Amino acid sequence: MSGIRLTRKERARYLAQDPRLNEVINSLMALRRFPKSKAINKQIDTAVAIARKFNEEVVEPVYKQIDLEVSRDDNYLCWDFVKKANEWGLFTLFVPKMFGGAGMNMIGMYPFIEEIASVCTGLSNVIGVHYLGFATLGSSWNLKLMNEIMKDVKKGEKTGDPCLITLANTEPEAGTDLEEVMLFDRAKIGTEARKVKGGYIVNGSKVFISNGHVSKWHMLSCFGDKTKPSETSVMLAIRNGMKGFRLGHHEKKMGQKACVASELIFEDCFVPDKYVCMQWTDLPAGFSRKSVAEFAQHVIDYIVSSTRAGVGAFAVGAARGAYETALEYARKKTVNGKLLINHQWAQSMLAEMYKNVNMGRAIVMESAYANALHGLAKMLFLRPFYYMNLYLPSWYFRMISPMINMKVATLLTRFFNLYLYPKKSAEIQSGWASLTKVGCTDIGIINSQMALQLMGIDGCRHDIGSEKYYRDAKLLQIYEGTNQLNRINLFKNLVGRNMKEVEVF
Ligand SMILES: Cc1cc2nc3c(=O)[nH]c(=O)nc-3n(C[C@H](O)[C@H](O)[C@H](O)COP(=O)(O)OP(=O)(O)OC[C@H]3O[C@@H](n4cnc5c(N)ncnc54)[C@H](O)[C@@H]3O)c2cc1C
Repeated sequence: MSGIRLTRKERARYLAQDPRLNEVINSLMALRRFPKSKAINKQIDTAVAIARKFNEEVVEPVYKQIDLEVSRDDNYLCWDFVKKANEWGLFTLFVPKMFGGAGMNMIGMYPFIEEIASVCTGLSNVIGVHYLGFATLGSSWNLKLMNEIMKDVKKGEKTGDPCLITLANTEPEAGTDLEEVMLFDRAKIGTEARKVKGGYIVNGSKVFISNGHVSKWHMLSCFGDKTKPSETSVMLAIRNGMKGFRLGHHEKKMGQKACVASELIFEDCFVPDKYVCMQWTDLPAGFSRKSVAEFAQHVIDYIVSSTRAGVGAFAVGAARGAYETALEYARKKTVNGKLLINHQWAQSMLAEMYKNVNMGRAIVMESAYANALHGLAKMLFLRPFYYMNLYLPSWYFRMISPMINMKVATLLTRFFNLYLYPKKSAEIQSGWASLTKVGCTDIGIINSQMALQLMGIDGCRHDIGSEKYYRDAKLLQIYEGTNQLNRINLFKNLVGRNMKEVEVF
């Protein structure tokens, strides 16, 4: 017999080399290890088909006009679009059936977002950021609150009065410093939630909150004590209309104009205990975390592992939109006596852009599958829950939910999903999500820049569409942690992993 042969011992020895890398590979390599489920693939295809139909009927006819409208009128909000997306059920499409959603497989959300972002990243973010709010709520496993808020979202869908959720983290004086618990104690924090009998009193403000002016619920991250924030994290659910809460101005920004970025103001806003999503006392040291701060970091890692990959999907969409626009242009435009597409240098640029899109998509999907195996959505992929979500109708969950002791159920789900969630998994997932975010958003900028360059003055024209991809893609390198911060997070969790001499932040 010819060819290489490995003894069992050799195989084990080679696989044991570089244990840090193995940890990562074993946690990921998700595409290879994911159960080959026809149902999952079918749902992903369905999600893509819905997004394409939505693009054709809703997004394409309006996106350029909305972009111009916001440039002209600071107060313009794209309510018509939000209402249409609500009518189509897009704000509950990826919500599990037990919370009133359509129960569409979470993995399908990434290609769904990419499709819409390939036409307009701003409008894709209007939908995507609602799921950022939902992911934050979900990460608390506070089942009672999840039930109440998602009931509201569903009601909004039925009545035609959209009910969206935001995540409010960034403050006027603290952005990056609120993305990592190790930076909290050095941050200039302005928003405090003082514990009082029956709830919290919140004072302060948040800025650049996507969808703020078109949402009804806001997942507010703040601190019980500004002098020791890393030990006193609180996540509160704020409903429009609560006394002491109001929306302030919205930003004039360069791109993603369709997705409003809002100021949220809190002046002695009383938030009752029932709207405490999670607080530091819910994050006990132990279960492989040495302190409350370590646990708080774990919760952040848990959330961003799914959402930063989502930003990667927006970016792949932008990269693809830019590529497709340039390709169509090159097929029609004549340069130096022949079609642009027949110049070898143009072919080389288009090939590079095509490569970028496909590499980006592969990272996003690997991240999405890895998340389903190890992250926030893991529970939905455990066999019993997977089939329940697929086959049990939502009315059944509505019927049985009043019979469930939500406090006990919350404790149990937190125990299995949060407290027992291995620290190692959270860190590796977080490092990988940063890799995805950085890699794809850089690709978004590279492709939109190349498309602009290839198209010359036509690339600068608003009606042709290429310049908008560039303006939209740039913002992706900033939100959900700047790419600098994400590179450091990648280093911390993957490159410098388990190296005793390494210090980060
Ligand atoms: C379009 C848009 C939508 C947004 N939507 C939301 C939202 O929905 N919810 C929300 O909470 N926030 C949102 N943000 C805010 C976003 O998360 C912050 O912009 C981001 O965290 C960076 O904070 P900053 O802009 O204040 O930068 P700063 O923290 O002021 O940083 C300034 C510069 O210093 C660098 N820097 C700072 N600290 C470090 C460090 N330790 N190591 C290395 N470099 C560092 C940064 O990379 C950056 O280049 C949005 C932002 C944009 C642009």
